[in-house]
Amino acid sequence: MKSSELFETAKTLIPGGVSSPVRAIKPYPFYTKRAEGSKIYTEDGDSLIDCCMGYGPLLLGHAHPFVKSAIKDQLDNGWLFGTPAEAEIKLAKIVTGDHPSMDMCRFVSSGSEATMAAIRLARGYSGKKDIIKVEGGFHGAHDGVLIQAGSGATTMGVPDSAGVIPEIVSHTAQVPYNDIESLENLLAKNNNVAAFIIEPVMGNIGPILPEDGYLKEVRKITEENDVLLICDEVICGYRLGIGGAQVKYDIKPDITTLGKIVGGGLPIGVFGGRREIMEMVAPAGPVYQAGTFSGNPLTLASGIAMLNYIHDNSRLYERLDGYTKIIHESLPEKYRDSFVRLGSIFKLFFREKPPKNYVQAKESNTEKYADFWKKMLQSGVFLPPSQFETNFVSAAHTEEDIEYISGAYNKCL
Ligand SMILES: *Cc1c(COP(=O)(O)O)cnc(C)c1O
Repeated sequence: MKSSELFETAKTLIPGGVSSPVRAIKPYPFYTKRAEGSKIYTEDGDSLIDCCMGYGPLLLGHAHPFVKSAIKDQLDNGWLFGTPAEAEIKLAKIVTGDHPSMDMCRFVSSGSEATMAAIRLARGYSGKKDIIKVEGGFHGAHDGVLIQAGSGATTMGVPDSAGVIPEIVSHTAQVPYNDIESLENLLAKNNNVAAFIIEPVMGNIGPILPEDGYLKEVRKITEENDVLLICDEVICGYRLGIGGAQVKYDIKPDITTLGKIVGGGLPIGVFGGRREIMEMVAPAGPVYQAGTFSGNPLTLASGIAMLNYIHDNSRLYERLDGYTKIIHESLPEKYRDSFVRLGSIFKLFFREKPPKNYVQAKESNTEKYADFWKKMLQSGVFLPPSQFETNFVSAAHTEEDIEYISGAYNKCL
């Protein structure tokens, strides 16, 4: 059946026709039949070069043979035990070994679950109630972080979704990214802050890079104020390199959340940190956290394969950085200044300069983006449908793919 027909049926069965809102492309999304390497093959018979990559997890591309064979091997031995399995220890060893800030970690099934648990843990450990997040920072779709972004720098939040009660987000404050003074001022006024949660490199309003020294200052100020620092590296983890943003920018958070890449493309979340904090988590300690599918054998097998592959082929990060450099340098000159890239992450903003924070990102011309996005799709390149979602290249992209993408950018711009 064609995508348009499938979507008509889906809308009668699933709210908005989709399992996650970003997929509801207008007038209808294309339906994927199969994906392999850098390509998606649609129900309409099209093949597309994918620069969305499942919104981040597929660092090695679709259906990577090494990960696939690990999943197949595990399938033969069962895919849910409800008991501990050795693979948990193996993956925990790799993850804690790659992140000097993590002595221990716990596996969950999504990034949202990881940040939800991390925030509860910070509150349980510190005995304090409030959290601070960055305006436009995304930490999953749970109540405490679904707060209207851009609602004014240092005010307490307003819920961003019906059904979130104001009392909950009244304990969530926001500060602009790349703005140390706002954070300092807020902390000077409030001594009930359990944690500051931040995407070290912002990835959910398009990529926004930290200014020189910002993250180190954040670490210093949170430490001085006895506020836990939660680095939400669900996108950055294994994306910016082994050890993610915290190794790249040399900071040591108290708690880290991971997801996306670390599961090799199967559902996962991880939260981890210093031993004395993590030992507060049940059953070792009083902060409750649990899940039927947590640490499930298929995800563990896929994650271990992914991370082993990355360790054995860590040069891939340089290759991917080279890819986004080629795309950048081949752009028409007037667009080069507003193109942001970091390793395998890239995005063209339809504004004059790269944004420094959420408010600036929101100034982008989203109509122009939508128009450009549609032309790219028609040219055979699938970019995330929003100006505010990050583009990714993967290890499965070839030099020919990159040339094709560059050509399409030029043509469509
Ligand atoms: C994707 C994302 C999440 C949520 O992860 P899910 O697996 O979608 O629940 C949390 N934080 C960041 C920074 C993310 O990019």
